[in-house]
Amino acid sequence: MRVVIVGGGVAGLALANALEKADIDYVLLEGRTEIAPFIGASVAMTANGFRILDQLGCADIILNATYPLEFVRTWGNKDGRLVSQWEAFLLSHKRSGYPLSFMDRHFLLKTLYDNIEDKSKVLLDKKVSRVDHSTQGVSVQCKDGTTYAGDIVIGTDGVHSIVRNEMWRHMDIAQPGLPTKERTLMSAEYKCMYGVARPIPGREGDCDPNYFHRCVGQDISFMWSPAKDGRIFWFVYEKLDKVYHAPDIPKFTDQDALDLAQHGMDLYISDKLKFSDVWENRIAYMCLPLEEAFYEHWSYGRIACIGDTVHKWTPNLGAGANHAIEDAAALASAIYKLAHSKTPPDHKTVEAALSNVRESRKFRAEAMSKATNKTTRLEAIKGPMESLLTYYIAPWFLADFIANRQTTGNVGAEKLEYLPDPPQSLLGTQAFNPTYRTGKKPSLLGRVIPGIPLLLLAYFASTIFSNIVQLPTIGTTFHKVLPLGQLEYHGQIWNLPTMASPLSVMVTFFSPSLLNVDPLQRLQMITFITDLAPLWLIWIFESHRPANVMTFAWWPVIFGVAFQLKGIGMVGPIWFFLHYIQSPLRNYSSLDWRMVNVAAAKTALVAMLATLVVPTFAMYFTPDLDQRLQINVMWQVFPFFTVVFHYLLRKLTVSDTTRVDRLYNVHADLPYVRFAVYTLSAISALTFNWVRFTSTASIASLMIPDWNVVNALLRAEPVGLDFPAATKVFLQVDEVVCFGAAFVWLALLVRDLKKAEMTTTAWWKIVVSGGVGTVLIGPGAVVALAWLWRDEMLATKKAKGSVGDTYVVDKSGPTPDEAARWQKFLNRE
Ligand SMILES: Cc1cc2nc3c(=O)[nH]c(=O)nc-3n(C[C@H](O)[C@H](O)[C@H](O)COP(=O)(O)OP(=O)(O)OC[C@H]3O[C@@H](n4cnc5c(N)ncnc54)[C@H](O)[C@@H]3O)c2cc1C
Repeated sequence: MRVVIVGGGVAGLALANALEKADIDYVLLEGRTEIAPFIGASVAMTANGFRILDQLGCADIILNATYPLEFVRTWGNKDGRLVSQWEAFLLSHKRSGYPLSFMDRHFLLKTLYDNIEDKSKVLLDKKVSRVDHSTQGVSVQCKDGTTYAGDIVIGTDGVHSIVRNEMWRHMDIAQPGLPTKERTLMSAEYKCMYGVARPIPGREGDCDPNYFHRCVGQDISFMWSPAKDGRIFWFVYEKLDKVYHAPDIPKFTDQDALDLAQHGMDLYISDKLKFSDVWENRIAYMCLPLEEAFYEHWSYGRIACIGDTVHKWTPNLGAGANHAIEDAAALASAIYKLAHSKTPPDHKTVEAALSNVRESRKFRAEAMSKATNKTTRLEAIKGPMESLLTYYIAPWFLADFIANRQTTGNVGAEKLEYLPDPPQSLLGTQAFNPTYRTGKKPSLLGRVIPGIPLLLLAYFASTIFSNIVQLPTIGTTFHKVLPLGQLEYHGQIWNLPTMASPLSVMVTFFSPSLLNVDPLQRLQMITFITDLAPLWLIWIFESHRPANVMTFAWWPVIFGVAFQLKGIGMVGPIWFFLHYIQSPLRNYSSLDWRMVNVAAAKTALVAMLATLVVPTFAMYFTPDLDQRLQINVMWQVFPFFTVVFHYLLRKLTVSDTTRVDRLYNVHADLPYVRFAVYTLSAISALTFNWVRFTSTASIASLMIPDWNVVNALLRAEPVGLDFPAATKVFLQVDEVVCFGAAFVWLALLVRDLKKAEMTTTAWWKIVVSGGVGTVLIGPGAVVALAWLWRDEMLATKKAKGSVGDTYVVDKSGPTPDEAARWQKFLNRE
């Protein structure tokens, strides 16, 4: 197998390196006379490109020559106002294992070229002018009259690609009109001048090499960042007078560049610097149109194109070169398979292998194309919507959204399939995983269907509850009690502590257990509510992790108030269902998305004890029965109190270290989460066993309702239940259905873990542990401990398809230098 590569830019040199490593014959034809000329251009490497460079053995050279960019500051270029600042690049570094580094473009090209052992295969001054192909092979002709033959030809000759044109010519011959649309697809709405400047004399302190700056303003925007040696890489973008289409996209002269500089001269590029500071120290610059195109055809027969030849976008997100490297890796992996197939691949196999590269690359490349082209328009404030998003929405709401999109986009990055994973690529907290490459999200229906039993349980509980409420004894009791505000049992009268509806209804409902009218019901309620505490804790924790932002689980207070009014037997299964359908494992692909906010984790136990556990014991053990009723009034609103008190505790009593911990210790929440779960589980288990040994009836008969009664209630048949007996059945059904649903929910979550191969524990072991555990320590403790077990898996295990098996979490925290940089960033210095 011999490959002819046309173009010795980023994609071409990356492909040459990859083929050399695969021991595949190739020749690279570069039109220029120099492989890495200095033209004032710079390029940023991101995790997706870095990993492949690492496989090729080039990453260390780049890492040593550059500073990692950590922080992004956005300035208004009219007045130098700080619009927003994010630690987006630092977050991306920690998640992927690779930093974002800016360098001279010629340095990147030279590094790639120097890494090639057999330089005789890279031919300079070879401007390709024609490409021919047959079912047997290809022939590539250069302007100097030389011809090169091969099995396939790869066009890496950039935005004005001759190979792409030749590919269209062949398509046109075979199927006239096939590429017609593509010929005029490329457009340009913006131009860009990029350059390099010397360090600005006396302003070195204002040019921190860990910062990247975006300077936004109407129709003109800037980006700049200092290099390790103090030089400044800079870019100016300006909107063109109209949208141009190929082949009429204009070229720009030096005078155009000078005019553009003049337009930007008085605009701010930070609070202290203006563009004139950079321009006066310029070393080199270049002005060009920013072409945009995403082509349908990347290959035809034995001709394939990658890099800027097939996806050209604006440079605002620094992605073109990185995706060109990914293209090269995907293509090299495909060629490697062809070259190592047992029999020489025929024409059809070669054609299919080349066209599959686009299939693999399409989703992520297209998503990036849209994102970066949109970013150009946001930064150059194209219209009112862009203005709203850039100045007002993004700074407040989109900080993590944008970083998350970037890192999630890179998770599915390509690599060289035939070379080992570099150790650095295993260190990130968001493992690379090619299964996230295709854009195919888990179907909602695929989660709704297994969740249906939860809805059935909610329906079951709601039917029973509404039929209980309609029992004549219930109606008579409420008609008697509520207007008078008095409860009467066995000739004794108690005043309701409140007439506020629905609190008076709820206190009445709890009165048989509170007043010990039915001692067994009292015991059932004590164990039921202490079982509820760990469950409520889980809901509180779930509401404080990024994985659940803007899902139903984000709003526990709504469900808490609802279950107090309607019964947790009905509301619980609905919460479990909604949580399940909104919690595919993908939501946890970055370890910091699992993290419970650290301040919330530290304070949740106290909030639970203060608002639920202590009031529960107080209302069932206070000797004065009137006081029990009074405490019950307060207890009824515990979901509201928990959320408010927890909020106050986490804001006022502890420091929230989540923002730093998600970078330097993604397990920071776990000790607090564990302690809270263990404590409430222990209280629940002890109470469960105290009830077991105190009760005159078996624990099963306390908790499980009489099936004949339930059956009759389901059919709305008459049942002779007095008020205490009716409340007893209600509360038994409430508990059994709620915890039954919790077990179904946990089983569904464990099923996710098993599918993703994050646990190999056999189902029978899980079922037996759950069953035996429930008998020994009660359902509340078992549910909480099982939930914690799942969390430990999410915090340490990698999902199927990821590189590496287990996350190695560095808990050492930031170094003094990192901490100082972080503080400076937070202080906006
Ligand atoms: C201002 C600007 C800033 C950018 N910043 C970034 C960034 O920070 N990060 C990033 O990832 N991307 C960035 N990009 C995009 C990135 O530079 C390109 O996407 C990337 O260089 C594409 O690589 P390529 O190999 O496909 O094409 P090129 O790098 O353009 O290489 C094409 C090569 O083919 C050669 N060639 C052309 N015609 C012929 C011919 N007929 N015969 C033989 N050889 C030929 C050319 O001489 C050249 O060497 C930026 C782009 C611009 C315009």
